[in-house]
Amino acid sequence: MKELDDEKKYFKAIKKRDNFECQNPECRNRGKGKPVRLAVHYIDYDKKNINPWNLITLCLGCRIETRYKKEYSQYVYEEIVRLKYPNDWEHLKKKRLKVKD
Ligand SMILES: [Zn+2]
Repeated sequence: MKELDDEKKYFKAIKKRDNFECQNPECRNRGKGKPVRLAVHYIDYDKKNINPWNLITLCLGCRIETRYKKEYSQYVYEEIVRLKYPNDWEHLKKKRLKVKD
């Protein structure tokens, strides 16, 4: 139970980082003034990878779309995190370099 609570808190922190908004620039729910349900999406689809650079806030509609456009979504959302949170991105670069060794 404790772990679940921690996860909830962590995901809330990610949503806060993302200003409690869907981060899809083409989101159809954006700017309509309606409250939308938000979810935290794993950018590389690895649910064990809870590093902040791998997590992004999406509305439920946009999260469902990621299932059908996997490569495209991964590319777009990685770019968004890279541009918005360069400090998070540094960790990803390091990890990738390690993988190449
Ligand atoms: Zn959206």
